[in-house]
Amino acid sequence: MTTDEDRESLAERLAALPVPELVDVLRRVLSHHTEEEYGIRTVLVLATATTYAEERGAVDVELVAWPDREYYRGGLGIDQGLWEEGRCTSCDTSVTSNAKRAYCPVCGTRCALT
Ligand SMILES: [Zn+2]
Repeated sequence: MTTDEDRESLAERLAALPVPELVDVLRRVLSHHTEEEYGIRTVLVLATATTYAEERGAVDVELVAWPDREYYRGGLGIDQGLWEEGRCTSCDTSVTSNAKRAYCPVCGTRCALT
């Protein structure tokens, strides 16, 4: 068990990372919390939620796709914020990423985002 101070220290370190590095760390951590039982698979993912000042109550939720490190030769893609968007061709989930080539966080399919 960790202390509040331990978790705060970890949170401060994570908050200091650029988005692509934070996403890469969370990819490694969240995947350990996948649960499969009785034919039901639940994955812990990172998501963005976008709201609009002029559309009260409207929320667009997209799951953050993990950059394709093989495509980027070990890198994480461009550090430009989560501007690339698309849908997974396998599970039809709406995904976003900093990278044009990324993996769907739900099913692991390679996605080409624009
Ligand atoms: Zn998918």
